[in-house]
Amino acid sequence: MARAAPSAAEASALTVTTPAGPGGPVTRIRADVPAAAPGGSWRPPIGPIDVETRFDPPPLPWMPGHRGVDLGAAADGSVRAAGAGTVVFAGDLAGRGVVSIDHAGGLRTTYEPVDALVAPGDAVAAGKVIGRLQAGHASCPGAICLHLGLKRGPLYLDPLLLFGQGQVRLLPRPGRAEAAP
Ligand SMILES: [Zn+2]
Repeated sequence: MARAAPSAAEASALTVTTPAGPGGPVTRIRADVPAAAPGGSWRPPIGPIDVETRFDPPPLPWMPGHRGVDLGAAADGSVRAAGAGTVVFAGDLAGRGVVSIDHAGGLRTTYEPVDALVAPGDAVAAGKVIGRLQAGHASCPGAICLHLGLKRGPLYLDPLLLFGQGQVRLLPRPGRAEAAP
């Protein structure tokens, strides 16, 4: 999996302002999440949005945190692509089933734990079934839930942004340490 360098479009989608406040300069970064590629907009991957564990990125890349949202699964266990894109990973990662999809605008969504029904290279439309939900995600408050992650390049974003919810919080730029997967 080659990681492409950030494109101009991707870079321009991040707006950085540094207003000088009483406590010194504050960096705010705004990420615009574009509509999905032609073929549809963003759709919840597993029934109506039911957030069980919120996005809680760590203050530093190597620290523990929650790099996505956990969504309750009242539906039949079918996990669907949140947007149109191309499957870039489908299989076992450290003992859990993971599917990752690359979308327009440099965005990548990741779904776990799932039993994948797609393969790397598959083109998927928004709403396409990509796997079956499995039990075992550590931060599920209940028996089973879907962990959905959203990244733009190395940055973890709140996946709820895709659905018009959520907040932009940002990991510090990876410098001395790589962000965990
Ligand atoms: Zn989670």
